[in-house]
Amino acid sequence: MSGKIAVVGSNMVDLITYTDRMPAPGETIEAPRFEMGCGGKGANQAIAAARLGADVMMLTKVGDDIFADNTIRNFETSGIDTRFVERVPGTSSGVAPIFVEPSGENSILIVKGANALLSPADVDRAAEALKQCDLIVMQLEVPLETVYHTIAFGAAHGIETLLNPAPAAPDLDPARIEQVTFFVPNQTELATITGLPVTSEAEAETAARTLVARGIRTVIVTLGARGALLVTAGEATRRIEPVRVTPVDTTGAGDAFIGSFARYYVETHDLDASLHKAVRYAADSITRPGTQKSYATREAFEAFCA
Ligand code: ADP
Repeated sequence: MSGKIAVVGSNMVDLITYTDRMPAPGETIEAPRFEMGCGGKGANQAIAAARLGADVMMLTKVGDDIFADNTIRNFETSGIDTRFVERVPGTSSGVAPIFVEPSGENSILIVKGANALLSPADVDRAAEALKQCDLIVMQLEVPLETVYHTIAFGAAHGIETLLNPAPAAPDLDPARIEQVTFFVPNQTELATITGLPVTSEAEAETAARTLVARGIRTVIVTLGARGALLVTAGEATRRIEPVRVTPVDTTGAGDAFIGSFARYYVETHDLDASLHKAVRYAADSITRPGTQKSYATREAFEAFCA
């Protein structure tokens, strides 16, 4: 029987303008193409897990604008429980205006909007529903206090928690995340939180070990094309081999990894098997353009793994 996942995190609407060049200050220019897409690390991870058939509940805040309608419809279409997606009057939804130049260079503005208002009290209001979950997944696009509170809530109620410390946050306090079950940074995020260099696998292991020494039970470091590392207290480090693919668009690979890991972990509680699936799911996602739209359904993923 598969378990239930809660994502306590962000949602954003990506507003992508493809332009021949960036306008100079005060200048107005025409751009050839525009696209809108649902994003935000929390939403991406929830969608990845739900596409693979997980039972997912999303705890997030949206504004009172058309982006909110879009985001809620997107969750509902994927079968995600939206009882705790709250609309905040007088606030904008989280949006990310993205400008893509012909070189492929991206310039991105993040407006957190309603995401910045997700509070510890919101977590408390959802307490009964959260207690029904097997895993609570978090990232850092919502206030740090809410993340710390959710980790403590999980620890107090015996619910496993996963923190993906993205985007990299220099002010994340390691002392307040020690009770998290899974800490899942990429190399940049691991370097930021430990203050150590993380350019090789050996450095990643050394940095991850400092976190394990502080009490974090399980650190999973994603290493891009090199796969991932599993570092746990009292056990030898394990390497999860990558899958060789030709990358088309690596945006959202980390979110695909986490969403799929969460989905397989709550079903099997088998760490190695779930990580093996996660490197495959993330690798498959980078063979297609886009973020959420590159995430495979369970049927398509089973075909990829076959
Ligand atoms: P992020 O997207 O957060 O920067 P990573 O770059 O570490 O995170 O990628 C997350 C996971 O996606 C990796 O652990 C790996 O499984 C997969 N992945 C990313 N890039 C590649 C690649 N070029 N080839 C194969 N797998 C990849």
